Amino acid sequence: MARSIWVIAEVADGKLSRITTEVATAARGIAEQAGRDVVGVVVGADPGKPAEELARFVPRVLSVADPVTDGHASATLLAERVAALAADEPPDYLLLGAGPEGRDAAGVLSVLLGWPVLANATGLGWADDGPTVEMSVFGGRLTTRNAFVGEHGIITIRPNAVTAQPAATKGAVESSNPGGDAKLPSVPVVESVAEAGAAAPIEEARIVVAGGRGVAGEDGFKIVQELADALGGAVGATRAAVDAGWINYAHQIGQTGKIVKPQLYLALGISGAIQHKVGMQTAETIVAVNRDPDAPIAEFADLLVVGDLFEVAPAISAALRARTG
Ligand SMILES: Cc1cc2nc3c(=O)[nH]c(=O)nc-3n(C[C@H](O)[C@H](O)[C@H](O)COP(=O)(O)OP(=O)(O)OC[C@H]3O[C@@H](n4cnc5c(N)ncnc54)[C@H](O)[C@@H]3O)c2cc1C
Repeated sequence: MARSIWVIAEVADGKLSRITTEVATAARGIAEQAGRDVVGVVVGADPGKPAEELARFVPRVLSVADPVTDGHASATLLAERVAALAADEPPDYLLLGAGPEGRDAAGVLSVLLGWPVLANATGLGWADDGPTVEMSVFGGRLTTRNAFVGEHGIITIRPNAVTAQPAATKGAVESSNPGGDAKLPSVPVVESVAEAGAAAPIEEARIVVAGGRGVAGEDGFKIVQELADALGGAVGATRAAVDAGWINYAHQIGQTGKIVKPQLYLALGISGAIQHKVGMQTAETIVAVNRDPDAPIAEFADLLVVGDLFEVAPAISAALRARTG
């Protein structure tokens, strides 16, 4: 039987999550070197569409229709179905996104299969016949490379650690039924509440305008928002700004926040501490506005505007508005 790496899909609102396309791309990245097949697994009440979408990224997708998943938190049900499939056709490694769903499912899968988990990968490689997993530790000061001792394991990969790229040819979708009843207690979703003022998904934004302590207060974030609106981007923040209560945690970028990978990252009043840098350093272009020419961000920004953000940011917004009429 062919040895394989499985990509366990995360589905939200009937659609394949972006994180799964990134995980699938990472799996393909090591598969050839590994001499392993890549197989996607989609479990859901209506898995057809997300399974087809995942087939754009991997050569083979197992699509498991399970009506029980409808209206229930998916992690336990997903893990139980994947564990049943794995009993029929054992994979070597399971890869999931390190979002809330993926983390939950990885934990349950670890218990069901008795496999270890390497969590929050920021990079993935292959050496000595096993995956190598990069992790950012000690507040981003160190990157470690980790490997499993045995021949099986579960890896969760952080969002935006990899750029999603479809495969050259589309894969095949197979309906699969692992059989048996779900035995673990399921968790019905009673109510879903959108957080008031929740961030537009900054992980997916092409442009992020972020504010730090230099923004100096909730009012200062109006300037950040204005510039983000003028650029069609999303608002990000440092932990200093979040801890001060100027903006909510959903906007925090960095070691203990989100990782973003936009085309343009515009940092206003941000010093560029390592814990912030690890969340945005892979942006294609980094522009910083800081009144201190020696701020650490100067070392990795593509362009540093030395000046007062309260002058520079409104001037850019005004210029953009003038351009678009
Ligand atoms: C375990 C751990 C985890 C952490 N996780 C995160 C994380 O996820 N994300 C994160 O961001 N931080 C994180 N931090 C905190 C991090 O170490 C820094 O303290 C934080 O990033 C600093 O935020 P800042 O750049 O907004 O503030 P500061 O470092 O105070 O920088 C403010 C900058 O604004 C400039 N400035 C001030 N006024 C103006 C003005 N009017 N115009 C232009 N420039 C101005 C200053 O010159 C300065 O460079 C973490 C720390 C630890 C220990």
